[in-house]
Amino acid sequence: MELPLSSLPRKLNHHCPLCGRILVNDDVEIISLHNNQMMVYTTCGSCGVGLIAKVSWLPQGLVGLGVLTDLTRDEVKQTANLSPITADDVLAIKMLTDKGYLEIKV
Ligand SMILES: [Zn+2]
Repeated sequence: MELPLSSLPRKLNHHCPLCGRILVNDDVEIISLHNNQMMVYTTCGSCGVGLIAKVSWLPQGLVGLGVLTDLTRDEVKQTANLSPITADDVLAIKMLTDKGYLEIKV
């Protein structure tokens, strides 16, 4: 199924959840695009809050979920392309902390 990219800016036309200003579509950037899902980032020009939205194109239409963030656009780009944490990663951290090579403070 092809994504309706030409209609995306119109679909994302909404207000900032923090200050209520209308978000400008020109500030919306597609961070990643895979199959029928994309991650977009925008910044409110009034209060400066960042908004990350995951948008999926389904047969029923566009479905999106957004979160406010203090991450910059570049930070979101860097983290969006990282590999997910695996079970082996968690076990390696556990072994390092058990042997005293690594300390985790909460
Ligand atoms: Zn705002």
